[in-house]
Amino acid sequence: MKTKVIFTFPPEIVEKPISHTLMKEFDLWINILRAKIEPSEGGKLVIELQGDEENIKAGIELAEKSGVGVTLLENDVLWDKELCVDCGACISLCPTQALTLDRDTFKLNFDFGRCVACGSCAQVCPVKAISINF
Ligand code: SF4
Ligand code: SF4
Repeated sequence: MKTKVIFTFPPEIVEKPISHTLMKEFDLWINILRAKIEPSEGGKLVIELQGDEENIKAGIELAEKSGVGVTLLENDVLWDKELCVDCGACISLCPTQALTLDRDTFKLNFDFGRCVACGSCAQVCPVKAISINF
């Protein structure tokens, strides 16, 4: 299975090779989609984890025990459907085609599986329907 998570590293563990441990100990395939790291301030990584479901769970537990904050990407990228006016302004800026307009209903579709939490949509949304904790 595949899952996208956001790892938040406090400064004291930012240099620990946690991703390497997850790959080695739990046989996980790790794709870093976005990174923002300042050694003195800590950092955040958007990561796609791929592997056995149990191993993903165990790997996330180990990361948490090591002091890493772990959230599912869809819990940190919030789309308020009620606020969204389906204007489409965010669509062309999305680098991964996570945002599309339904051709029949002209409503916005948000495919969280494609999102990499780049934040472009949140910057242009005129009604602040999308917010990103990154
Ligand atoms: S944050 Fe917005 S623009 Fe960026 S990949 Fe996700 S949906 Fe697309
Ligand atoms: S820019 Fe905002 S209001 Fe417009 S479609 Fe995207 S999320 Fe909805």
